[in-house]
Amino acid sequence: MSDYKKIILKKGKEDSLLRRHPWIFSGAIYSADNELQEGDVVNVYTSKGDFIAVGHWQIGSIAVRVLSFEPELINDEFYENKLSSALDVRRSIGLLRSNVSDNQTINNTFRLVHGEGDNLPGLIIDIYADTAVMQAHSVGMHCDRQMIANALKKVMGDELKAVYYKSETTLPYKADLGQENAFILGHSNNDIAIENGLSFHIDWLKGQKTGFFVDQRDNRTLLEQYSKGRKVLNMFCYTGGFSVYSMRGGAELVHSVDSSAKAVDLVSKNMELNFPGDTRHQAFAVDAFKYLDEMGENYDLVILDPPAFAKHRDALKQALRGYTKLNAKAMEKMPSGSILFTFSCSQAVNKDQFRTAIFSAAMQAGRKIRILHQLHQPADHPINIYHPEGEYLKGLVVFVE
Ligand code: SAH
Repeated sequence: MSDYKKIILKKGKEDSLLRRHPWIFSGAIYSADNELQEGDVVNVYTSKGDFIAVGHWQIGSIAVRVLSFEPELINDEFYENKLSSALDVRRSIGLLRSNVSDNQTINNTFRLVHGEGDNLPGLIIDIYADTAVMQAHSVGMHCDRQMIANALKKVMGDELKAVYYKSETTLPYKADLGQENAFILGHSNNDIAIENGLSFHIDWLKGQKTGFFVDQRDNRTLLEQYSKGRKVLNMFCYTGGFSVYSMRGGAELVHSVDSSAKAVDLVSKNMELNFPGDTRHQAFAVDAFKYLDEMGENYDLVILDPPAFAKHRDALKQALRGYTKLNAKAMEKMPSGSILFTFSCSQAVNKDQFRTAIFSAAMQAGRKIRILHQLHQPADHPINIYHPEGEYLKGLVVFVE
C-alpha cells in the first residue's frame, strides 16, 4: 500500500462509494492526517479501517474526487493507462478520421477526457488537430498537470504537438495557485481544427471554455440535414458551429446572432474559411431578447443555444422561467411549419424540467408543437453511470405548427 496521507470516513458514509460515486463530501469525513495540502493524493478508509478509495483532496464541499477504488499509485503509469483508454474509445467511435483515398482529415476535433465520464474527475482535455487544451477543475489535477501532459504526449506520439493549459478561471480562487494560461508542452500555431470536414479557427488563448463547443457536434450534424432551403437563425452562435453546418446543408440564408462582438468576429472568420464570399450569411452583435423582439417572422429554422441559465441549483426556478421566456419569444415569430432546435447546458436543469419549460413556452406563445428529436451530449462526453450529475446537455427539436 502506498504511503499517501489518510482520510477516515464517518460511520456509514461509505455507502455512496460502494455504489462507485466518485465524490466524497466534506461532511462525510471523520478525520484526516495532519498537514494535508490541497491537491494531495489521499487514501480513504471506512470507519472500520478498510481501504475504499484513492483520490485528490481539496478544501470545499467536494473534499475528495476519487481516482480509483483500488489501492493504486497515482503516477505516470496511472495517467498513461487512463488516457490511452480514453483515446481508444474515441478512435473506436470514429472521431479521428481521414479519407482513405487522399488522406484528407475529416475529423480531428474531439473531447479526449470528460472528467468523471472518463474516470478522471476534475480533468477536461479537448483535442484540436495537433493541440490538446487541458483544463483542471480540481487542485489535484492542477498539481498533476505536467505529469498528465507528459503522459498524453507518450500516448498520442506524433499526433500531438502541444498541450495548452487553460485553468485560469476553473480553479478555486481561494486556493491561490497563481496559475496562468500557457503552453506546458511544445507549442503550436496551427489554430485550425476540422470537424466533420468543416474547418474552425479555435481560439484557445482567449475563447470561452477550451475554445470551442465540441459537445454540439452531433446536433450540428442533425441540423445540417434539416437546413435545405430554410431561413436559419442561429441565436447565441459563439464560433458559429451551427451556422457553418447549415450553410453546407443548403440553407437559403443564415443569420448568426451573439451579444459578444468577439463571437461575431469568430463566426465571420469561420464562415470565410469554409464559404468564402458566400452572401447567404450575415452576423449580428445584438442581445438575444432584443433581436427576437425586433425581428420579423422570417426564420423557419431557429437554434437557441444559450449559456447555462442556472449555474447552481438555487437559481433553478429563475432559469426555468428564462428558458420559457426565450423560447416563447422565438415561437411567437416562427411561421407555421418551422423547426426549432432548443438547448439547455445547465447541469442543474434536468430533462423533464427543460421539457416542461418548452411546454410552457408553447402555451405562452399559443403554438402547437411536436417533439421530433430529444438531443443530448455526444459520445466523447460520456456519462459515468455512477455519476448521473455528468449528464448536462439537453436539447429538443420541435416542429412548430
Ligand atoms: N451555440 C454555440 C455555443 C453558445 S455559448 C456553439 O455551438 O458553439 C453561449 C453564447 O451566448 C456565448 O457566445 C455568449 O456570448 C452568448 N450570449 C450570452 N448572453 C447573450 C445574450 N443575452 N444575447 C445574445 N448572446 C448571448
